[in-house]
Amino acid sequence: MTKIIQPGAAVMQLVEWRAEMRHLNQARLLDNVDEPCLRLMQEAFEPCLIEAGGILLSPLEHNHFLYLVLEGELAVHLDSLDSHPVRAIGPGDCAGEISFMDNLHPSAYVVALKPTVLLRLHRRAMPLLTRSPKLMQNLAELLCQRVRLSDRLIINSEQNANLDTLTGSFNRRWLEHIYNRESTRCAFNGQPLSVLMLDVDRFKDYNDRHGHLAGDHALCLVVDTLGKLLRPTDSLVRYGGEEFVILLPDMALDDARNVGERLRQSLEAITSFRSPIGTLPGVTISIGVAPMQPKDELETLIHTADQALYQAKARGRNRVCG
Ligand code: GH3
Ligand code: MG
Ligand code: MG
Repeated sequence: MTKIIQPGAAVMQLVEWRAEMRHLNQARLLDNVDEPCLRLMQEAFEPCLIEAGGILLSPLEHNHFLYLVLEGELAVHLDSLDSHPVRAIGPGDCAGEISFMDNLHPSAYVVALKPTVLLRLHRRAMPLLTRSPKLMQNLAELLCQRVRLSDRLIINSEQNANLDTLTGSFNRRWLEHIYNRESTRCAFNGQPLSVLMLDVDRFKDYNDRHGHLAGDHALCLVVDTLGKLLRPTDSLVRYGGEEFVILLPDMALDDARNVGERLRQSLEAITSFRSPIGTLPGVTISIGVAPMQPKDELETLIHTADQALYQAKARGRNRVCG
């Protein structure tokens, strides 16, 4: 082991041994690259070691190197070091290729999960890479993989942006989107659409008696129980703290009342349930039902359902009105 260098915030050691052909043969980037080219690269690649926890690449630091991983493991974090890693980089894979190619700052953090042995190539040696069409093809394939992964991440984060983090039900952002779509579709097809507004009964008491965490589990119970009774085209939305909205496309008022009654009974029947913090008492819900009128805005429809819910509360709770 020799001198300690600081690429970005990383503590990295350049190591004394030379890169051997067997090391280069490990790297997918160099698959089927011809021997004379590999020999030239063997001279240019420097072996180095980064300790566990070391930051190899950071969006805050310029990167001059392409890294091949020989041993160990790296993790890629997108927006901060605290965020969940989006992928791991193991032996045979490479790191830093995007900033190496475009000479901009890295787009992510790359951190060593274990002591990791790497070979690194300075940007100065770029002409070596461009000599080999096979290597350029490998690099293009690798960049395609990265693009596909980031597309998937965008899709996932779009989907998560529509979900409530506690219960996994949809959130209000989704309700607005799906109402615009379904109200237009139902109106166009001459089909009805109904909405249920639900509120957990005496939930403040429940929290006071059993604790807020118990309350959180009860909200998850509500979502799990009701979700099983709905059609795939219905949307169960957490509208506020312990209030939910259910959008029922292609359903008229009478049927929506029946659905509401079934949902109400399903929770009433659960007198206790198991949770990670022990057995807890069930909860009941009150429900207001409203049918969509021609040209109803979402707010108008919700307001009507909310008034029906208010009646259900006033008449003693654990009932369906509207
Ligand atoms: P009502 O039957 O009239 O609806 O009575 P309520 O006690 O349910 O109504 P209120 O609006 O007074 O209380 C709602 C309670 O819901 C208060 C709040 O602490 C609780 N709550 C809201 N969001 C959450 C949550 O995410 N988790 C937990 N555990 N409680 C929540
Ligand atoms: Mg409420
Ligand atoms: Mg309530």
